[in-house]
Amino acid sequence: MENLHRNLIGGEWTEGIEVSENRNPSRPSELIGLYARGGRDDLHAAVAAARAAQPGWAAAGPQARADVLTRVGSLILARAAEIGRLLAREEGKSLAEATGEATRAGHIFHFFAGEALRLAGQKIDSTRTGVEVDVTRGPLGVVGLITPWNFPIAIPAWKTAPALAAGNAVVLKPADLTPACAHVLAQILVEAGCPPGVFNLVMGSGSTLGRAMVDHPDVAAVSFTGSEQVGRQIALGCAEGLKKVQLEMGGKNPMVVLDDADLDMAVKACLNGAFYSTGQRCTASSRLIVQKGIHDAFVAALDEARAALRIGDPLDENTQIGPVVSQAQLKGNLDYVALAAREGCEVRGGEPLDREGWFQRPALFIGARNDMRSSREEIFGPCASVIEVADFDEALAVANDTPFGLSAGICTTSLKHATAFRRNAAAGMVMVNLPTAGVDYHVPFGGRKASSLGPREQGTLAMDFYTTVKTAYVFAG
Ligand code: NAP
Ligand code: MG
Repeated sequence: MENLHRNLIGGEWTEGIEVSENRNPSRPSELIGLYARGGRDDLHAAVAAARAAQPGWAAAGPQARADVLTRVGSLILARAAEIGRLLAREEGKSLAEATGEATRAGHIFHFFAGEALRLAGQKIDSTRTGVEVDVTRGPLGVVGLITPWNFPIAIPAWKTAPALAAGNAVVLKPADLTPACAHVLAQILVEAGCPPGVFNLVMGSGSTLGRAMVDHPDVAAVSFTGSEQVGRQIALGCAEGLKKVQLEMGGKNPMVVLDDADLDMAVKACLNGAFYSTGQRCTASSRLIVQKGIHDAFVAALDEARAALRIGDPLDENTQIGPVVSQAQLKGNLDYVALAAREGCEVRGGEPLDREGWFQRPALFIGARNDMRSSREEIFGPCASVIEVADFDEALAVANDTPFGLSAGICTTSLKHATAFRRNAAAGMVMVNLPTAGVDYHVPFGGRKASSLGPREQGTLAMDFYTTVKTAYVFAG
């Protein structure tokens, strides 16, 4: 097929077993492109190619790996505007957010180019005279990467870059809904001189390819970002095969607003955290926990700002909120809006827009309680519950009373409360007077409880997952 975007296996662009139509959620009638879907055999071929190529990549040394990663980063940055447009068309976030995500992917490759050179060990005196001990880090071999649709270039980048920096070979299975950004990344890796087989792309269905990856004996480790439900299956499969596993999953992130908060700042942080990127961020603020003295003024101001959000085609520069990613996701969101109303919340917004595309008005669930299903389950859409609390202690208790623990925020002018929240929030990331979403690329990212399993991603700690440690003892005589 002529205009098919193919899988990359062992340096060859291959057809797979099926073709998927990648469509624009703002205008489902618009076809972005045709993408190959691989089957089990393609996945197995990709693992074999990776296994064959990995020793040479590891032996090439840190400079060769840093050079390739630097070129990848520079090529992404040079094409950030173009990749941003493609991302906005296939996933639906605003052009500014999409271009920002592409830029972030470029910076991530540059950061890990440096990490390839900085991969240090330890030299320690032995307890035995005449014996030298050193502790070094080496690659794992073939690593499998499984990524979601909501950050279609940044997440493939923040898994691929550290994996390659450490000398591993990669098989990437991107989300079926958003193959275009991963395909561009594959093209750029080839253009940057990444040797055949070192990076392989197999697009297609997660239940087929993901399973085949987890079950494959030559895959040493699996890094997954996605839903808790799929994450659990992957963890079980990896336990069976005794594979290293890293999971980044959902959130139900609390944002506390205390009486002493700067109201304007709190409204801006909650508007951004809850609704930007159409609420489709694992770090989105989905529980707004508001002290009673500021509650009514905060809700009135936030609801006014919510109603004024400009929803539309992400390619329109005025758009703040794009579409929901798919019809199925929109249906799920609308079901949660109906559920919140049944549970007794006063629902503002949340209705679909009467136009082509999967558009939905952002929603507030006012008068929510933390034990409602709408306050406990991740919706992954532009919906936030507002939960009223009496004081800081109750706010902290409610914030931590959740199955998840990714990001937690507080808006306050009190140093005492900000400090107590930083210490006691049961989350991997804490934000003071900032939205729960929106993180830097050079520091650790991850959470606790049902949000994460395994070592952190991003920053220097990312290398913990992608390396294995060797302790060597030498008797020098
Ligand atoms: P998902 O349905 O869990 O899918 C994630 C990836 O897993 C996709 O590539 C998917 O393929 C694949 N997959 C599906 N079933 C599989 C199976 N049985 N075995 C192996 N792989 C399988 O998640 P999503 O809907 O794409 O993304 C939304 C979720 O991601 C949310 O829960 C969100 O919170 C989470 N997320 C977390 C973070 C974080 O860092 N914590 C960041 C972003 C998103 P298909 O596309 O073919 O289904
Ligand atoms: Mg899915």
